[in-house]
Amino acid sequence: MLVIGLTGGAGSGKSTVADLFAEHGAGIVDTDVIAHQLSRPPSAALDEIRTVFGDEFIAQDGSMDRPRMRELVLSDVSARGRLEAVFHPRILQLAKEQLQTLTATHHYALVVVPLLFESGRFLPLVSRTVTVDCTVERQRTRLAQRAGLTTQAIDQLLAAQFSREQRLALADEVIRNDGSREELADQVATLHRTFIKLTKSA
Ligand code: ADP
Repeated sequence: MLVIGLTGGAGSGKSTVADLFAEHGAGIVDTDVIAHQLSRPPSAALDEIRTVFGDEFIAQDGSMDRPRMRELVLSDVSARGRLEAVFHPRILQLAKEQLQTLTATHHYALVVVPLLFESGRFLPLVSRTVTVDCTVERQRTRLAQRAGLTTQAIDQLLAAQFSREQRLALADEVIRNDGSREELADQVATLHRTFIKLTKSA
Protein backbone atom coordinates (compact mmCIF):
# COMPACT_ATOMS: atom_id res chain seq x y z
CA MET A 1 0.00 0.00 0.00
CA LEU A 2 1.11 3.56 -0.70
CA VAL A 3 1.88 5.23 2.65
CA ILE A 4 2.28 8.99 2.86
CA GLY A 5 3.83 10.80 5.83
CA LEU A 6 1.90 13.94 6.79
CA THR A 7 3.66 16.52 8.92
CA GLY A 8 3.68 20.25 9.66
CA GLY A 9 4.33 22.58 12.56
CA ALA A 10 2.09 22.72 15.61
CA GLY A 11 -1.20 24.37 14.66
CA SER A 12 -0.43 24.25 10.92
CA GLY A 13 -3.55 22.19 10.24
CA LYS A 14 -2.39 18.55 10.10
CA SER A 15 -5.49 17.11 11.79
CA THR A 16 -7.75 19.23 9.61
CA VAL A 17 -5.94 18.02 6.48
CA ALA A 18 -6.07 14.39 7.66
CA ASP A 19 -9.85 14.70 8.13
CA LEU A 20 -10.18 16.05 4.59
CA PHE A 21 -8.16 13.13 3.17
CA ALA A 22 -10.32 10.72 5.17
CA GLU A 23 -13.39 12.18 3.44
CA HIS A 24 -11.84 11.03 0.14
CA GLY A 25 -11.42 7.54 1.59
CA ALA A 26 -7.76 7.65 2.58
CA GLY A 27 -6.75 5.52 5.55
CA ILE A 28 -5.45 7.59 8.46
CA VAL A 29 -2.99 6.59 11.16
CA ASP A 30 -2.53 9.46 13.61
CA THR A 31 0.48 9.07 15.89
CA ASP A 32 -0.90 11.76 18.23
CA VAL A 33 -4.06 9.70 18.72
CA ILE A 34 -1.89 6.63 19.43
CA ALA A 35 0.19 8.66 21.93
CA HIS A 36 -3.00 9.73 23.71
CA GLN A 37 -4.16 6.12 23.90
CA LEU A 38 -0.83 5.05 25.36
CA SER A 39 -1.12 7.82 27.96
CA ARG A 40 -4.29 6.30 29.42
CA PRO A 41 -4.51 3.11 31.50
CA PRO A 42 -4.17 0.25 30.98
CA SER A 43 -0.87 0.79 29.21
CA ALA A 44 2.62 -0.63 29.67
CA ALA A 45 3.98 2.74 28.49
CA LEU A 46 2.26 4.41 31.42
CA ASP A 47 3.80 1.96 33.87
CA GLU A 48 7.21 2.79 32.43
CA ILE A 49 6.49 6.54 32.68
CA ARG A 50 5.79 6.05 36.37
CA THR A 51 9.08 4.18 36.82
CA VAL A 52 11.18 6.62 34.78
CA PHE A 53 9.62 9.95 35.83
CA GLY A 54 7.88 9.19 39.15
CA ASP A 55 4.32 9.22 40.47
CA GLU A 56 4.05 12.98 40.16
CA PHE A 57 3.68 12.59 36.39
CA ILE A 58 0.56 10.44 36.79
CA ALA A 59 -2.71 12.38 37.16
CA GLN A 60 -5.59 11.56 39.55
CA ASP A 61 -7.38 9.48 36.92
CA GLY A 62 -4.30 7.28 36.39
CA SER A 63 -3.39 8.74 33.00
CA MET A 64 -0.16 10.62 32.25
CA ASP A 65 -0.23 14.23 33.45
CA ARG A 66 0.30 15.60 29.94
CA PRO A 67 0.47 19.34 30.79
CA ARG A 68 3.10 18.60 33.45
CA MET A 69 5.06 16.35 31.13
CA ARG A 70 4.88 18.92 28.32
CA GLU A 71 6.25 21.56 30.67
CA LEU A 72 9.13 19.28 31.65
CA VAL A 73 10.17 18.13 28.19
CA LEU A 74 9.97 21.60 26.66
CA SER A 75 12.60 22.82 29.10
CA ASP A 76 14.69 19.63 29.49
CA VAL A 77 16.11 17.96 26.41
CA SER A 78 17.25 14.81 28.22
CA ALA A 79 13.75 14.32 29.70
CA ARG A 80 12.37 14.66 26.20
CA GLY A 81 14.72 11.89 25.07
CA ARG A 82 13.55 9.64 27.91
CA LEU A 83 9.90 10.31 27.10
CA GLU A 84 10.49 9.51 23.43
CA ALA A 85 12.36 6.32 24.36
CA VAL A 86 9.22 5.13 26.18
CA PHE A 87 6.68 6.21 23.58
CA HIS A 88 8.21 6.17 20.13
CA PRO A 89 8.98 2.43 19.72
CA ARG A 90 5.46 1.62 20.90
CA ILE A 91 3.84 4.23 18.66
CA LEU A 92 5.86 2.90 15.72
CA GLN A 93 4.75 -0.67 16.39
CA LEU A 94 1.07 0.30 16.72
CA ALA A 95 1.27 2.49 13.61
CA LYS A 96 2.65 -0.49 11.66
CA GLU A 97 -0.18 -2.69 12.91
CA GLN A 98 -2.82 -0.11 11.97
CA LEU A 99 -1.30 0.28 8.49
CA GLN A 100 -1.36 -3.47 8.05
CA THR A 101 -5.09 -3.51 8.82
CA LEU A 102 -5.77 -0.60 6.44
CA THR A 103 -4.02 -2.38 3.55
CA ALA A 104 -7.02 -4.66 3.06
CA THR A 105 -9.51 -1.84 2.71
CA HIS A 106 -7.72 1.29 1.44
CA HIS A 107 -5.79 2.32 -1.67
CA TYR A 108 -3.43 4.45 0.34
CA ALA A 109 -2.92 5.76 3.85
CA LEU A 110 -1.51 8.80 5.57
CA VAL A 111 0.53 8.57 8.74
CA VAL A 112 0.29 11.84 10.66
CA VAL A 113 3.58 12.49 12.47
CA PRO A 114 4.20 15.96 13.95
CA LEU A 115 7.97 15.39 14.21
CA LEU A 116 8.36 13.27 11.06
CA PHE A 117 11.62 14.88 9.96
CA GLU A 118 12.95 15.71 13.41
CA SER A 119 12.77 12.17 14.76
CA GLY A 120 13.33 10.25 11.53
CA ARG A 121 11.98 7.11 13.16
CA PHE A 122 8.80 7.06 11.11
CA LEU A 123 10.37 7.87 7.75
CA PRO A 124 11.01 4.20 6.83
CA LEU A 125 7.22 3.64 6.94
CA VAL A 126 6.46 6.18 4.21
CA SER A 127 7.30 6.51 0.55
CA ARG A 128 6.32 10.19 0.19
CA THR A 129 6.01 13.13 2.54
CA VAL A 130 3.61 16.07 2.71
CA THR A 131 4.00 19.12 4.93
CA VAL A 132 1.20 21.46 5.89
CA ASP A 133 2.63 24.95 5.79
CA CYS A 134 1.44 28.30 7.11
CA THR A 135 3.02 31.43 8.54
CA VAL A 136 4.40 31.25 12.06
CA GLU A 137 2.02 34.07 13.05
CA ARG A 138 -0.92 31.93 12.00
CA GLN A 139 0.45 28.93 13.89
CA ARG A 140 0.67 31.11 16.99
CA THR A 141 -2.88 32.42 16.64
CA ARG A 142 -4.31 28.93 16.16
CA LEU A 143 -2.34 27.47 19.08
CA ALA A 144 -3.43 30.28 21.41
CA GLN A 145 -7.07 29.79 20.37
CA ARG A 146 -7.18 26.01 20.32
CA ALA A 147 -4.96 24.90 23.16
CA GLY A 148 -5.04 28.08 25.24
CA LEU A 149 -1.23 27.98 25.46
CA THR A 150 0.73 30.91 26.87
CA THR A 151 3.08 32.87 24.63
CA GLN A 152 6.04 31.29 26.42
CA ALA A 153 4.69 27.75 25.95
CA ILE A 154 4.10 28.47 22.25
CA ASP A 155 7.67 29.81 21.91
CA GLN A 156 9.06 26.63 23.49
CA LEU A 157 6.84 24.38 21.40
CA LEU A 158 7.88 26.04 18.15
CA ALA A 159 11.56 26.10 19.16
CA ALA A 160 11.47 22.32 19.69
CA GLN A 161 10.39 21.76 16.06
CA PHE A 162 12.08 22.26 12.72
CA SER A 163 11.47 25.60 11.04
CA ARG A 164 9.08 26.07 8.14
CA GLU A 165 12.08 26.31 5.81
CA GLN A 166 13.52 23.00 7.01
CA ARG A 167 10.21 21.19 6.52
CA LEU A 168 9.70 22.79 3.10
CA ALA A 169 13.18 21.68 2.02
CA LEU A 170 12.52 18.08 3.07
CA ALA A 171 8.90 17.46 2.02
CA ASP A 172 7.90 16.05 -1.37
CA GLU A 173 4.58 17.94 -1.38
CA VAL A 174 3.38 21.10 0.31
CA ILE A 175 -0.16 22.04 1.34
CA ARG A 176 -0.53 25.77 2.03
CA ASN A 177 -2.88 26.55 4.86
CA ASP A 178 -3.04 30.32 5.14
CA GLY A 179 -6.37 30.61 3.38
CA SER A 180 -9.91 29.34 3.80
CA ARG A 181 -11.02 25.80 4.56
CA GLU A 182 -12.29 25.64 0.96
CA GLU A 183 -8.84 26.42 -0.41
CA LEU A 184 -7.45 23.72 1.85
CA ALA A 185 -10.05 21.21 0.65
CA ASP A 186 -9.20 22.00 -3.01
CA GLN A 187 -5.51 21.24 -2.44
CA VAL A 188 -6.37 18.00 -0.66
CA ALA A 189 -8.64 16.95 -3.54
CA THR A 190 -5.83 17.58 -6.04
CA LEU A 191 -3.28 15.64 -4.00
CA HIS A 192 -5.75 12.82 -3.47
CA ARG A 193 -6.02 12.42 -7.26
CA THR A 194 -2.21 12.40 -7.50
CA PHE A 195 -1.95 9.67 -4.87
CA ILE A 196 -4.64 7.56 -6.53
CA LYS A 197 -2.68 7.81 -9.80
CA LEU A 198 0.45 6.72 -7.99
CA THR A 199 -1.31 3.64 -6.60
CA LYS A 200 -2.37 2.71 -10.14
CA SER A 201 1.09 3.16 -11.65
CA ALA A 202 2.80 1.18 -8.85
P1 ADP B 1 -2.39 20.60 13.88
O1 ADP B 1 -3.04 19.23 13.83
O2 ADP B 1 -1.36 20.80 12.82
O3 ADP B 1 -1.88 21.01 15.23
P2 ADP B 1 -5.14 21.49 13.49
O4 ADP B 1 -5.60 20.77 12.28
O5 ADP B 1 -5.61 20.99 14.83
O6 ADP B 1 -3.54 21.65 13.51
O7 ADP B 1 -5.52 23.03 13.31
C1 ADP B 1 -5.31 23.98 14.34
C2 ADP B 1 -6.57 24.82 14.51
O8 ADP B 1 -6.75 25.65 13.37
C3 ADP B 1 -7.84 23.98 14.63
O9 ADP B 1 -8.70 24.61 15.56
C4 ADP B 1 -8.43 24.04 13.23
O10 ADP B 1 -9.83 23.90 13.25
C5 ADP B 1 -8.00 25.41 12.76
N1 ADP B 1 -7.79 25.48 11.30
C6 ADP B 1 -6.90 24.74 10.57
N2 ADP B 1 -6.95 25.10 9.27
C7 ADP B 1 -7.88 26.08 9.15
C8 ADP B 1 -8.37 26.87 8.05
N3 ADP B 1 -7.91 26.75 6.79
N4 ADP B 1 -9.34 27.79 8.33
C9 ADP B 1 -9.78 27.95 9.59
N5 ADP B 1 -9.35 27.26 10.67
C10 ADP B 1 -8.40 26.34 10.45
